Amino acid sequence: MNHRLDQMKPSASLVFMTRAKEMQKTDPSVISLAGGEPDFATPDRISMAAIRSLSEGYTHYVVGPGIPELRAGIAKKLREENGIICDEDRIMVTPGGKNAIYLVIHAILNDGDEAIILNPAWVSYEPIILAAGGVPVHAKLDYKTDYRITEEVLEKAVSDKTRLLIINYPNNPTGRILHEDEADILEKFLLRHPQVYLLSDEVYERIIYDGNRNVSMGARASVAERVITVNGFSKSVAMTGWRMGYLAANKEVFQGAYKLYQHSLSCMSGFMQKGAVEAFNCQREIEDMRSIYEMRRNMFTGILNSIPGVRCTLPEGAFYAWVYYDIKGMSSAEICEYLLENAGVVGMPGTAYGEESVACMRFSFANATEELEDAANRIKKAILALDK
Ligand code: GLU
Repeated sequence: MNHRLDQMKPSASLVFMTRAKEMQKTDPSVISLAGGEPDFATPDRISMAAIRSLSEGYTHYVVGPGIPELRAGIAKKLREENGIICDEDRIMVTPGGKNAIYLVIHAILNDGDEAIILNPAWVSYEPIILAAGGVPVHAKLDYKTDYRITEEVLEKAVSDKTRLLIINYPNNPTGRILHEDEADILEKFLLRHPQVYLLSDEVYERIIYDGNRNVSMGARASVAERVITVNGFSKSVAMTGWRMGYLAANKEVFQGAYKLYQHSLSCMSGFMQKGAVEAFNCQREIEDMRSIYEMRRNMFTGILNSIPGVRCTLPEGAFYAWVYYDIKGMSSAEICEYLLENAGVVGMPGTAYGEESVACMRFSFANATEELEDAANRIKKAILALDK
């Protein structure tokens, strides 16, 4: 067996999502807020376009990195919404953003090359770096400063072996967005270290609250050539099961990733790509979903913040509540298990994202509003019961 797999942990998101499903088989009242998955149906016009293409026989290999109309739509979206100028011939349609990340990391890293991850971080960056033979370096951001990026933390993590820095904004799990002043820090960092690529995972970029704006590093002209932007349709248009993501990269990274793509995937399904083209005509649906997430965020965090010993900063984007606990010295894992057993609510322990310095959990609020309210009240009741 490949020894690299020994160091690789299973995906905690998928482990907890599976566990919740198993529990629901015997107890349907269990609420899963573990996985980040929109509860909304994929907008009808997207599904109908795919069904039409399917019945028209669009069911064979579609050789290439994506159908032209989808790549053109992505290029336009990146230009108009994110300020990223990328020719469509450097855009690749991938099975989910996750696979785009996998291809990019494998295209860039050689054995022993270092890749910096900003902690807390989504669960799959480290395993993918390890699979590529790279060395993950965790740059720990501090919860006391609301996980602000600083020059010090980046400079402490970088070495002459660093080839990649991975960022993810809006952030999973913390819900932070990338602000202009932090983007300035990242830009200066990249200018000081010309051997480093930046992988910017922006899959939650259409889910932002309070009229805020997330900065796309690919829009910074001085470093744009070294920024690889990954995004997708899963979160913004509720298409998780379709596995539709994409990457935008410079020619060199694109070509490397495309070789891997050819030898592992051949191509994406044509009828699903035809469906995804319609996503660009779903601005109203996207905004409707976003505003419902905002309402759910306010309700869910409002109830949690009313519990003594519990604190949840309002997420600026994505659909996760990142919740801190100061309850009888309990750890992340202990609270997670306690709520699972006593509230029937499944969330993710903060340690899954590398946050060891404080007890915390991540809850997805992409569930139905009534279910979320029920979950929040059950959490409250279970925590209050600890004092009795
Ligand atoms: N990205 C989502 C999450 O963090 C879905 C599961 C996964 O791919 O990790 O829950």
